[in-house]
Amino acid sequence: MGGYGSGGHNKTHGRVEEGFRIDSFSVLQYADWFEQLTSDYEINYPILGGSISCNLMENTAKISHNGREYPLGLSKVPNVDRISYRLYFLCPKCGKRVRHLYKKDWLYQCRKCAKLNYGIQQRSGLNLIRRKMYWLVVNKLQYVDWEVDHPDLCIQDLWHIPKPRYMRWAKYDALMGEYRRLQKEYETICNASLMKAFERINKLLG
Ligand SMILES: [Zn+2]
Repeated sequence: MGGYGSGGHNKTHGRVEEGFRIDSFSVLQYADWFEQLTSDYEINYPILGGSISCNLMENTAKISHNGREYPLGLSKVPNVDRISYRLYFLCPKCGKRVRHLYKKDWLYQCRKCAKLNYGIQQRSGLNLIRRKMYWLVVNKLQYVDWEVDHPDLCIQDLWHIPKPRYMRWAKYDALMGEYRRLQKEYETICNASLMKAFERINKLLG
């Protein structure tokens, strides 16, 4: 444990965010923090070289960057309280609900469409963490139906995992803590690998 709040991780994370990746959770956080939400439920979220204007009432958005504009679908998923919600993007290329979009070939697209899975997600370190998470979710937390409930999410991206009926809360909390720890670890390695990949691309492009 420890080290997640350290400057090193945050710095890497920040650079990844700014450069080429947008996070739908950050869009909603931005609206909350800066009270950007007008009565029309519109937010203008700044990104590198442009902005995303979102209409949270109609679940539509528009990305403008480098003088180009294209539409972006949004999807809201209610939280357990049934009042608040999480915001996701619909990938402009494949239409899948995703949290992160990556800039590639002048288009923001999901990790799969941008083909960033390749080479990065297949690294043995990440494979091992994913296997641990799968074991934790399916065997320990007994959430066998996770793929049925979230066909568009990967094992490392789960948000809510229900408590098994006969499990004590203390045990559930401990297992969830372990899952969140693996999630953080996964993200840290993934971000570092992405940064390296993009540094290589930038070097090639001069
Ligand atoms: Zn896609």
